[in-house]
Amino acid sequence: KPIVLSGAQPSGQLTIGNYLGALRQWDQMQDDYNCLYCIVDLHAITVRQEPVALHSASLDSLALYLACGIDPKRSAVFLQSHVPEHSQLAWVLNCYTQFGELSRMTQFKDKSERHNNNVNAGLFTYPVLMAADILLYQANQVPVGHDQKQHLELARDVALRFNALHGDIFTVPEPFIPQVAARVMSLQEPTKKMSKSDDNPWNFVGLLEDPKMISKKFKKAITDSEDPPRVYFDLDNKPGVANLLNILSGVTGKTVAALEAEYEGKMYGHLKGDVADAVIALLEPVQQKFRDIRADQTLMQQVMREGAAKAREHASRTLAAVNAAVGFVAP
Ligand code: ATP
Ligand code: MG
Repeated sequence: KPIVLSGAQPSGQLTIGNYLGALRQWDQMQDDYNCLYCIVDLHAITVRQEPVALHSASLDSLALYLACGIDPKRSAVFLQSHVPEHSQLAWVLNCYTQFGELSRMTQFKDKSERHNNNVNAGLFTYPVLMAADILLYQANQVPVGHDQKQHLELARDVALRFNALHGDIFTVPEPFIPQVAARVMSLQEPTKKMSKSDDNPWNFVGLLEDPKMISKKFKKAITDSEDPPRVYFDLDNKPGVANLLNILSGVTGKTVAALEAEYEGKMYGHLKGDVADAVIALLEPVQQKFRDIRADQTLMQQVMREGAAKAREHASRTLAAVNAAVGFVAP
């Protein structure tokens, strides 16, 4: 089976953006692929984290992965910091990545503007660590949202460069970007993407939020002042409404065209209420499962340990090949 690797940062609570753009696909890919799903805590500290919050967000992420359908019997679920090979390979790949390439990464530009008091070297080399995450497992496919496409291209470039110098060490990964609702936007600023680490909680909907809060957040979502108000998909002129349609389409499986027809002549408030209800219904069983899993310490420990052990089997093999290829003496 081809190998799939993906992950999310425990930099906050996973959002409906993470779900529609990533987690949902992760679940579906388990039948046909050999999947590894990582909680990328090493990535999370590129932005300052409160240690207690990072700790609990990591465990919440693990429980949420399982609640969203990731099956630890079929897939390896693990914390990045439990597999030291990620950091080790990242160092080597740092020496095969150019300063200029990293300077062109739009996520670095965005995040260094947002966190301008802490533009650390880790934030700059984030894409190299991500390349290491992927290449360690010889992953064929990497399911990601649009926001990670540029990073994935960098991972491919680094893999090709390393292979050209040292022989066929790495599998060159392909991006897997789902067509439907792959990009969920912020509720208050619908021209930027929804992010779990956003300072303004009204911009995102977390997977663990209670139904009342979810309704409130959608009710407050920014639309537009077209008069009379009309519901149709126009990304440039009506980004707020387009985002709501996208989310509703992603959750219900109906096409945007079908939704446009359904909401003809209806008010924005109607659409918002329906999106909220659909999201609440989607999350209800997830939250139920989450509570059971999160409370089961034994299960959590077992999944983490087995996941890391499975991951290290692949990872140590690749790292040994890399070390030999660059000329390091075997210990
Ligand atoms: P952060 O704000 O800390 O960067 P994030 O919400 O962007 O958090 P990540 O951990 O960076 O989440 O990304 C996890 C996965 O979710 C990635 O595959 C990414 O492409 C996807 N993803 C993130 N945000 C969105 C979004 N708004 N819409 C669709 N997919 C998304
Ligand atoms: Mg992100």
